[in-house]
Amino acid sequence: MEMESFSLTVTQRDQILVEQQIFNIFKTFYNIPPSSQSFMLELQRENHVEYLTNGLKQLGPSFCVLDANRPWICYWILHSIALMDEFVDPELEDNTIDFLSRCQDPNGGYGGGPGQMPHLATTYAAVNSLVTLGSDKALSSINREKLYSFIRQMKDASGGFRMHDAGEIDVRACYTAISVASLLNILDDELVQNVGNYILSCQTYEGGISGEPGSEAHGGYTFCGLATMILINEVERLDLSSLIDWVVFRQGVEGGFQGRTNKLVDGCYSFWQGGIFALLKRLNSTRGEKSVPLGDGEDGPDGPETTVSSDATGEGLIEDLSQGGSHIEKGDQHDTSSRVNVDNIDRNSSKRHAKVEPLFNSLALQQYILLCSQDLNGGLRDKPGKSRDHYHTCYCLSGLSVCQRSWLEDDDSPSLPRAVLGPYSNLLEPIHPLYNVVLDCFWDLWFQNVQ
Ligand SMILES: [Zn+2]
Repeated sequence: MEMESFSLTVTQRDQILVEQQIFNIFKTFYNIPPSSQSFMLELQRENHVEYLTNGLKQLGPSFCVLDANRPWICYWILHSIALMDEFVDPELEDNTIDFLSRCQDPNGGYGGGPGQMPHLATTYAAVNSLVTLGSDKALSSINREKLYSFIRQMKDASGGFRMHDAGEIDVRACYTAISVASLLNILDDELVQNVGNYILSCQTYEGGISGEPGSEAHGGYTFCGLATMILINEVERLDLSSLIDWVVFRQGVEGGFQGRTNKLVDGCYSFWQGGIFALLKRLNSTRGEKSVPLGDGEDGPDGPETTVSSDATGEGLIEDLSQGGSHIEKGDQHDTSSRVNVDNIDRNSSKRHAKVEPLFNSLALQQYILLCSQDLNGGLRDKPGKSRDHYHTCYCLSGLSVCQRSWLEDDDSPSLPRAVLGPYSNLLEPIHPLYNVVLDCFWDLWFQNVQ
């Protein structure tokens, strides 16, 4: 009797190859002396900062490789530098603010470059860049009134947002619109109306969220959809139990996350999927006694043990986000305290609990980021064999920051040494997971907003 030939699909073969490559790295790592292990796990800060700073310097008029993405490049670089608690020199900062001002449309919002059509995704990138810089000059360069009117114009009757004039409606557009409006304190009922219905229609049978109704659940969209629902105060409408079920199974044997079922591991999902756990953790800590239901549908115990944290990678999300070129804007100052009070509650309630158990394997993800995604010459990447880039540098580092605080309920508390893989000097600045800006930058803006 003949054995039927055993054939693998392309996906299965690729998966085996990636696993072999990564397991070889781990094998090398576990067979070297501890002192060398420590070096392998060290975040090469100086090299990363140099790689990033050089990238920012190229944003001048001659930089046209990614013409429609330049605010994104600013954000990926500036946020990465801020995560490492470093700064850009004043002249470069000035040039960046001037450049972003030239991307701002006279009628509001930011395009991918000077004179380009405003787009929600590049608006998000530009605003997050300016909030990260944080100076008066940076923040006052944003025309909030016109920004509001731009965002308002992108609103569709379905409740969703269009990326740009006559552009596609999807979950990324909803997130970037709501995130920017919330951050700049211009979120109002008109912008919020029916957005929840749109996001809800994108939660799939798997539990994750897709870009549009009927598509496949994906890490980037799930992060965007969940963050949006939290920002508009409608998160309870989602099936959180099945969402958690979906996201916990996206972490693979490599330690990193995949973006979708049966896809390869990729460093950028360290944030898109990992950030989902940070959102769930935050959500849990704001609810007092009521816990986020765990994957089996049972309510977890009250208190810190039930907190969720994770890393998510949303490969393709930002990669896709940056394809667009519209932006948001609005000028009125609306009282959004009813929606963004998550932060206050979180701050106060968090003091009650010191430590929480993450719902993902935080150390395994850190190991993947440091050993497999890190280019020792500076920059981070998708996976071994791929080249470093600013996008993956930003989202690998954002995911690393989430991991390092995954045992804490309060992001302001000092991280436990055992939560930080490698030397403690690897510790990054905490982020605000709803916006993915460094927490200090968020608070500086927040205090300015309430003045
Ligand atoms: Zn990626």
